Amino acid sequence: MRTTVGIIGAGPAGLLLARLLHGAGVDSVVLEARDRAYVEQRQRAGILEQGTADVLRAAGAGARMDREGLRHDGIELRFDRRRHRVDLSALTGGRSVMVYAQTEVCKDLVALRLADGGPLLFGAEALAVEGAGTDAPRVRFRHRGREDVLECDYVAGCDGFRGVSRRAVPAGVSRVFERTYPFGWLGVLADVPPSHDELVYARHDRGFALLSMRSPSVSRLYLQVPGGTQPKEWSDEDVWRELERRLETADDWTLRRGPVTQKSVTPLRSYVHEPMRYGRLFLAGDAAHIVPPTGAKGLNLAVGDAVTLARALGHRKETGSDELLDAYSATCLRRVWQAERFSNDLTALLHRAPDATAFEDRLQLARLERIASSRAAGTDLAEAYTGFPLEGGADAAAADG
Ligand SMILES: Cc1cc2nc3c(=O)[nH]c(=O)nc-3n(C[C@H](O)[C@H](O)[C@H](O)COP(=O)(O)OP(=O)(O)OC[C@H]3O[C@@H](n4cnc5c(N)ncnc54)[C@H](O)[C@@H]3O)c2cc1C
Repeated sequence: MRTTVGIIGAGPAGLLLARLLHGAGVDSVVLEARDRAYVEQRQRAGILEQGTADVLRAAGAGARMDREGLRHDGIELRFDRRRHRVDLSALTGGRSVMVYAQTEVCKDLVALRLADGGPLLFGAEALAVEGAGTDAPRVRFRHRGREDVLECDYVAGCDGFRGVSRRAVPAGVSRVFERTYPFGWLGVLADVPPSHDELVYARHDRGFALLSMRSPSVSRLYLQVPGGTQPKEWSDEDVWRELERRLETADDWTLRRGPVTQKSVTPLRSYVHEPMRYGRLFLAGDAAHIVPPTGAKGLNLAVGDAVTLARALGHRKETGSDELLDAYSATCLRRVWQAERFSNDLTALLHRAPDATAFEDRLQLARLERIASSRAAGTDLAEAYTGFPLEGGADAAAADG
């Protein structure tokens, strides 16, 4: 099998890259280890930055998002039983975010890929990337029980944090920067309308809580839990009671309860692999970096990488120049490190470390007070939350119209 760009992984990064390359007339093959149902149903992110929504529209993948997604112009911070709305739009000159689940983004992109007629092989597990440092890289993979080889001009490693691509970068070239946090998030999906029409981020002495949503009838709720917690340690009743405690306000706000349909624990981690390119292998999305979910940046970073890589490969095809491919890693990393900084800061602002002192508790509250009372501090949060600009902007994705 032979193609120009071998894409490993059909998550948001791989699927969007395939779509953008199709628009730019660059052929690709997507290898995905899991089946289609798994890719389309895996519960993960749900907040799209304005720039991400613009990219999806420009790529022709925005119609259902615009019909079914929920535009949010603000978020609520809760602390000391008080509520403070951060007016994202007013603070950023009209920017907003879109609540539209990653499952739906993936469904839309899979449908487009299949309609484009480009190969998307489910159940095709990449085993190794070989010859990344040469002009003829190859992906060895297993499909339907048989081993095969995909020969390419370029390989896009879009295979998430546990994929195989990153391993093809020699140890002497890789630099890893990471932090693990001593807590995780217990997340539940519940068949109940959200108890507030915007996301609520709560700082509480018992730990962080987040009220989010997937649709007008489905709530997504999270609790900070100690590292190593198993979902089965928490009964549904325990979850609701703890959410009520941490989200409690001084006014008459109440939490709506409903049937819990899914429960899982996500560890919190910050991770960056540098460089994001080795020879003809380009890492994109979670394959290169992880952020704690507090800032809702993971999916948005994956989209940014895909746009940057598609533009660089399109430029190569049009002009023969490697200029943008050579700049790929540095271009992506500028945005990645801003998202790492923001996600880490927001995590520190809202979570309670197991060894937190009373002094640190007071500092957290003082920081929240500052955001609530200073336009400059509120603007700093709002700008980061709605997203850092993509170099080249959504226009970079418009090749597909
Ligand atoms: C539980 C959870 C909750 C999250 N919540 C949020 C959130 O609220 N907000 C947010 O912004 N982000 C969130 N994230 C992060 C976000 O989901 C990721 O950043 C995003 O999925 C990254 O997209 P990706 O395409 O890079 O990787 P992935 O979505 O991980 O896709 C990688 C794909 O590669 C495939 N693959 C792996 N190995 C191979 C192989 N060897 N061969 C072939 N295919 C392979 C995988 O099956 C997968 O389909 C969350 C993540 C998790 C795990």
